[in-house]
Amino acid sequence: MTDIEIIKGIIEQKKDVFIDASDKIYNFAELAYEEVQSADLLCKILEDEGFKVERGLADIPTCFMGTFGSGKPIMGILGEFDALPALSQEGGNPVHTPVCEGGPGHGCGHCLLGAGALAAAVAVKEYLTQTGSEGTVFYYGCPAEEGAGSKQFMARAGLFDDCDFCYTWHPATTNDVSADSGTAIMGANFEFNGVAAHAGGSPWLGRSALDAAELMSVGCNYLREHILDGQRIHYAYSDVGGTFPNVVQAYAKVKYEVRARTVKEMKALFSRVVKVARGAAEMTETQMNYEITMAFSDYSSNSVLAKVASDCLKELGAPEWDDEDYKLAKQFLRSYDKMQQEGIRTSIAEELGDDDLDDLLDKPLHSGVIEYDKTKGRFMGGSSDVGDVGYATPTAEIHVATACLGNIGHTWQMAGQAGSRIGHKGMLRAAEAIALSCVRTMEQPEVMKAARAEYIKKSGGKYECPLPDYVQPPIGKY
Ligand SMILES: [Zn+2]
Repeated sequence: MTDIEIIKGIIEQKKDVFIDASDKIYNFAELAYEEVQSADLLCKILEDEGFKVERGLADIPTCFMGTFGSGKPIMGILGEFDALPALSQEGGNPVHTPVCEGGPGHGCGHCLLGAGALAAAVAVKEYLTQTGSEGTVFYYGCPAEEGAGSKQFMARAGLFDDCDFCYTWHPATTNDVSADSGTAIMGANFEFNGVAAHAGGSPWLGRSALDAAELMSVGCNYLREHILDGQRIHYAYSDVGGTFPNVVQAYAKVKYEVRARTVKEMKALFSRVVKVARGAAEMTETQMNYEITMAFSDYSSNSVLAKVASDCLKELGAPEWDDEDYKLAKQFLRSYDKMQQEGIRTSIAEELGDDDLDDLLDKPLHSGVIEYDKTKGRFMGGSSDVGDVGYATPTAEIHVATACLGNIGHTWQMAGQAGSRIGHKGMLRAAEAIALSCVRTMEQPEVMKAARAEYIKKSGGKYECPLPDYVQPPIGKY
């Protein structure tokens, strides 16, 4: 049997298990660091499949690893399974219908991500077993991608040190392995402590922490003119002190996140934001403290592995969509409001050209595979802790369509499709693509060598965590 026959055979044979796992995780809809049932379910399936499972890794209760096989190479597959707040939606329903009003939902499709990656690990196991090859597959159970992350803590704990290469995937609107890059990010809480006083009777005896927080916003908004293109500064007030204007607010807390193309640039930008915060405290005669809460490294796929994955995905082809899938995708697409639909039209035209735009909008599921082109990487504003894995071992990420063309991430529509026949089909194809990529990489020592050489050039061969050592996983605090 060929490698494809082995992989497709086992995934077809066990597809109900994987679809059921994804749907259960969809319904658990557990938030970052709280993925107890989701992690438990994935661990149990791995154990049933003969994997050795270790739980509670990297000081995160829902972080785990499944291991199968022996010897080299060691192939890693990353799985995520956390949900997002307020995106509850009935699976497969193109009309906004929360299962639990205001509750969490899988608006980034991580139910599919975790279960699909598990299916890939099972398929690699099957290949190792059937061919009697030496090699080990690691399934990395990675919580909290949508929160403060886990992979940087896993990398810091050395969990990728023995891994020769890693593949992962993300639910998407197109089938491709892209050369796009994501930003490094650092988040921190800034606290200001002042002195309370009667705002009418004795304001001169008060020192306002809220004023300090507001002056920090003003300072950062002026700073924006003098930062590099592509850098970002975001903030949200998490505590404004109180709700009575007649009290000088003695306490305020504001959360900042800064993004830049590299960890080095990101750290430099962060230190400028700290200077602004110090200035705001100085101006208001308040005290300022800050605490770094999260950081991810910048992301781009290893180009050697990306080419392997792209060729595998091309050989497998897009998920096999039928009329019912197209009909459902169109209903989801039409559920967006007019302004968003205009934006979606533009983004599809930019990505796939506007020659067949009306046909594409009529059957809005990607039915091709966009080939990897190292020279066509775009800079994306988002961040992921997959970036840290890329600094710990050669890593590539595959995209497979699990939603209609142009679909917007982190929406109830993304969730609804993750719980639908469209999501299931995309997940199974992604599992095949990851497993085939692992096997093809493993069978070509020169490819592994080239991927490693590129990795060493990028990272110096040693992972450096962007977080200070004192920052622990913020379980229950993020
Ligand atoms: Zn995601």
